[in-house]
Amino acid sequence: MVGDSKKSGGMTTGQVVPVLVPLPVPGPYSYAVPEGMDVTPGAIVQVPVGPRQVPGLVWDADDTAGAVDPVKLRPITQAFDCPPIDATMRRFIDWVAAWTLTPPGLVARMVLRVPAAFDPEPRVPALQPMLETKPERLTPARRRVFELIEDNPGAWTKSGLAHAAGVSTSVIDGLVKAGTFKPVMLPPPAVVPDPDTGRKRPELSGDQAEAAETLRHAVGTDCYSATLIDGVTGSGKTEVYFEAVAAALDKGKQALILLPEIALTATFLERFHDRFGARPAEWHSDMAPKMREKVWRQVAEGRVRVVAGARSALFLPFRDLGLIVIDEEHDQAYKQDERVFYNARDMAVVRAHLGDLPIVLASATPSIESRVNAEAGRYGAVRLASRFGEAAMPDLRTIDMRKHPPARGGFLSPVLLEAVGRAIERGEQALLFLNRRGYAPLTLCRVCGHRFQCPNCSAWLVEHRFRQQMQCHHCGHAEKVPEACPQCGTLDHLAACGPGVERLVEEVVQHFPDARTVMLSSDMPGGAKRLRLELDAIAKGEADIVIGTQLVAKGHHFPKMTVVGVVDADIGLTNGDPRAAERTFQLLHQVTGRAGRTGEASHGLIQTYQPEHPVMAALVSGDRERFYEREIGERQRAGLPPFGRLAALIISGEDKAETEKYARSLRAAAPRSDDIDVLGPAEAPLALIRGRYRYRLLIHGDRKSDIQAYIRSVLSAGPKARGSLRVQVDVDPQSFL
Ligand code: ADP
Ligand code: ZN
Repeated sequence: MVGDSKKSGGMTTGQVVPVLVPLPVPGPYSYAVPEGMDVTPGAIVQVPVGPRQVPGLVWDADDTAGAVDPVKLRPITQAFDCPPIDATMRRFIDWVAAWTLTPPGLVARMVLRVPAAFDPEPRVPALQPMLETKPERLTPARRRVFELIEDNPGAWTKSGLAHAAGVSTSVIDGLVKAGTFKPVMLPPPAVVPDPDTGRKRPELSGDQAEAAETLRHAVGTDCYSATLIDGVTGSGKTEVYFEAVAAALDKGKQALILLPEIALTATFLERFHDRFGARPAEWHSDMAPKMREKVWRQVAEGRVRVVAGARSALFLPFRDLGLIVIDEEHDQAYKQDERVFYNARDMAVVRAHLGDLPIVLASATPSIESRVNAEAGRYGAVRLASRFGEAAMPDLRTIDMRKHPPARGGFLSPVLLEAVGRAIERGEQALLFLNRRGYAPLTLCRVCGHRFQCPNCSAWLVEHRFRQQMQCHHCGHAEKVPEACPQCGTLDHLAACGPGVERLVEEVVQHFPDARTVMLSSDMPGGAKRLRLELDAIAKGEADIVIGTQLVAKGHHFPKMTVVGVVDADIGLTNGDPRAAERTFQLLHQVTGRAGRTGEASHGLIQTYQPEHPVMAALVSGDRERFYEREIGERQRAGLPPFGRLAALIISGEDKAETEKYARSLRAAAPRSDDIDVLGPAEAPLALIRGRYRYRLLIHGDRKSDIQAYIRSVLSAGPKARGSLRVQVDVDPQSFL
């Protein structure tokens, strides 16, 4: 690749390299390497694209790079001083791009997340002991310094050394003059201290110890393996995978732990700290850019040992990754449904494969995909069948709402209210779970029947009474709650239909005016910080009744929680999504699993109009295995994932007729195939979002079909999307919305 660099008209004709830029273009662009600049594949550079300067990733050379006319080449502007993105990560970018049918530059953008400045962190001055220059006669103070540095011959800061040796800094200054220390510049300390794997750890139960041994072994082998920890809520999955993390750290490797929700990380970080005496570095979208940059660089330099983060942490350029853990692996939050449509759980398995390292997937309610992989032997599996210690699983019951209707205007059946009342009388806590933000999902005028709809989306506006707003949950459109109906003008006749969490608060306060009631919802003012405080307060017993959306469902450990009420168990079952049963089962299992984590008798009460539904039956009987068996059987019969392949093409545009016409022309261009069917176009379930009309083609193939190649052929055979038209590809769609 390195040629001789002759100047021709001010342009070097020497080295030409491909550079991946973070733009939706099909491949890397070629650039000239200016004389004196040294770049290898993986280097991060700045390059001109049109009038702009963008960050870029020097890509692996292929044969096409030589074919570029050198006169037209523009030079790389700058090479940044940071470690190169390694070959595994470059293969990973390629892989994700090919799998998700996304231009590789857009995947690279997730790796080059750090904003423009890649300036190296300022170094800090330090003193390196030069032990061979020990003076013959030492003062007592100098002797103390020598005793210390003979045991710790690494570099010290001046003040740190003076403090540790118990001498004044002038003693150190004298030793510097005498040549005992050489001044050096060191990288600044890591954003988080290294975890200490030698600390005392909890005594593991027999099952736990066995599971931990399996994981330690996997980490020890230094090659790819995937292990599913399938353990009921509270069985100690976290304790167990901490042992795998310790094993990776003991080998000098880095570890990545993915968590589905920021709300979960606060308690997680604390637990990690209890076990390892230090926190992991955090990574999520809420971080300040400066901190982000720091963590990114220190991960790349290998100075951060453990990262706990949201799905995007998968694209951090680890220097020496030795383990990936996916906690709550079934969680939908791992799927990103914009720009690059990827599932971090699946891509993490790929990352582990490419990097030859072990991956651990943990869940109390594994995804069907992971269960099938474990059953087929593609994943190793460890089971933790019971809760740790005294804690028993809650006793689960359905409340048939046809037989136990709530009082007029209410949503809580007398049976549930009674159970809540008894819990708080005993000084315990109750949780009411409803997966609906706001006050009411629909508002209508009682006089003319007008319904409040979003002007940009095919969705109702949701009243948020605390903010006095009507909000669209899809585009963020908000308007003031009017006093009069905008259609007929009648005053004060607007009716809220159905419950949201805000409305439940009213009902609860009416029944339990003296109880301390807390509502938690992802749209609360105060954001993540406030949420952490509230969760902490609940865990400490500073609330009696908690009302919450799904962010209370997962992972939290509330020691005093003994009653969990599911206000509407049927919500998720009616949306026509083939994963509806799996989702509902997982969610209800997780949320009722918040109860009884420390040994009191505990209850999960599930309000439903269909107690005979297989999901409810499986929950109540505790017969998880039968549920999985049945669900896996249904997927298999229908050829749905993981027994078949599925992708969605979402065709959207500002004009409805034009969008539909374009969707039809793509359909018409789809080639015939023996193992792949195309369904649609049909209006997407949310047919209008943010003023864009949406149609959907579903691509359904056999398990072995190459659905990506097929989609590429459809897109290249069909007419190009022009004007406002756009096609998005979602391989392995998680929901069909
Ligand atoms: P899971 O991740 O399966 O929900 P956790 O790891 O959170 O389970 O464990 C549930 C609770 O039990 C936690 O409070 C944890 O500290 C405790 N626990 C689990 N295993 C042990 C153990 N071996 N010794 C002491 N406490 C444990
Ligand atoms: Zn909207």
